[in-house]
Amino acid sequence: MRPVSSRTSGRRLRSRTALVALGVSLGLALPLGAQGTDDALLREATAQLQGLIRLNTTNPPGNELLVARYLDSLFRAEGIESQVYESAPGRGAVVARLRASAPAAGAAAATPLILMGHMDVVGVQRDQWTVDPFAATVRDGVLYGRGAIDDKGMLIANFQAMKALQRRVRAGVRLKRDVIFVGNADEEAGGDFGMGWLLEHHPGAIRAEWALNEGGRTRVMSNGKRYVALQTAEKVSHVVTVTATGPDGHASIPLEGNAISRLGRALAAIGAHREPTVLTPTTTRFFGSLAAAWPDAAEARAMADVASGDAARVARGATVLRAVPTLDAVLRNGISPTILEGGIRSNVIPRDATATLNIRTLPGESLDAVIARLTAEIADPLVHVTVTSRGEDSPAMSADNEFFAAVERAAKRLDPTITVVPYLSTGATDSADLRRAGYKAYGLLPFPLEMPDEERMHGNDERLPLTAFLFGIRFVTGIAEELALP
Ligand SMILES: [Zn+2]
Repeated sequence: MRPVSSRTSGRRLRSRTALVALGVSLGLALPLGAQGTDDALLREATAQLQGLIRLNTTNPPGNELLVARYLDSLFRAEGIESQVYESAPGRGAVVARLRASAPAAGAAAATPLILMGHMDVVGVQRDQWTVDPFAATVRDGVLYGRGAIDDKGMLIANFQAMKALQRRVRAGVRLKRDVIFVGNADEEAGGDFGMGWLLEHHPGAIRAEWALNEGGRTRVMSNGKRYVALQTAEKVSHVVTVTATGPDGHASIPLEGNAISRLGRALAAIGAHREPTVLTPTTTRFFGSLAAAWPDAAEARAMADVASGDAARVARGATVLRAVPTLDAVLRNGISPTILEGGIRSNVIPRDATATLNIRTLPGESLDAVIARLTAEIADPLVHVTVTSRGEDSPAMSADNEFFAAVERAAKRLDPTITVVPYLSTGATDSADLRRAGYKAYGLLPFPLEMPDEERMHGNDERLPLTAFLFGIRFVTGIAEELALP
């Protein structure tokens, strides 16, 4: 366990003047004199995030208990009740809770809210990084490290939101609902030792109606304006294997129907195949709302076309949006070949060769129907497409309720020009488990990032600009205040 005040925190931060300038450039509507408070807040939160990044929780093996204990110590230091749960040796969760004040006679307390984040991180390709991924280096006002944006930054933003609420409670403000912090394990490898385990073994500790999780985006567009993509639904991830078979033999005698050649033809057919455009209520509203704020006129028109519901306009819009992979990916099921295997010797023709596909279906779409379409495109009886692992669908969340409205108000307090849209994420999160268990779970990444920085998630030189970190802390705190204060 590391001390709260990391010894490098002060040294590595930029000067106070620089931080003030950064805060001003955020365009935050701060009352005069609040800048000093933000300065101290960012300094403290940065030291805490550095502490988390330096605890290596690469999954596998995870070792999330290190982070759970660190967070537990932060909560206890603030006088907030907190508990660590061990799901397996070295693995576990931390759950902290602020309790609602007793409601007035006859009234019921509002349902609890969870602020959650995962403590594990994905591995690194060490030689591709320009800094030590676990040193939490600050360079030019940017914090580098594995987990900075996925998802340790959010853990600290959530902690700071809890701390801000606790301060309000101490000042006599009454909370109308319990606010529960959950730091969970094993998100990057399926959640068997994390959210899945908590839901199975300690459902009472995390019982709530609402959950704010990772999975959304706060994006800075090319014109500098921001939009919040609040994740309300997610694609379902499946693993599928394509197996080609053929005659085996000595490589000195070329054979018709060589399994590797067959697999190559099948993969070419898969690569040329495009799944049909399918709009869900989430994506219709996403494109409809974003069209008004989008800086590129042709793409904005395409978004409006896609949201129009008119078949010809949808087709026209989808053709334009094909040029933007992140937008195209939410309009259809996605198929990505990821692994190739076949052959044992350079002079032996193998009997079979396989390719692994990662298929992401839109909510409500059938994997079997996708496989039937692929099989028809491949049109080869000696190539078989089989399911290796089938994902589970989860319900989409509404964008017309008190939660969505609270996020919108909190965002607009920080940036009056911001747009908040519901978002179907192409990535999978723990929220799917929660939604299937009856929670209303929403996904956010509260830090405004430009696309190149967003794409560092799971990549090299993952990093978080400190200005974006401060915005995110204030954003999550604002959401928690909107939902928990009277
Ligand atoms: Zn994550």
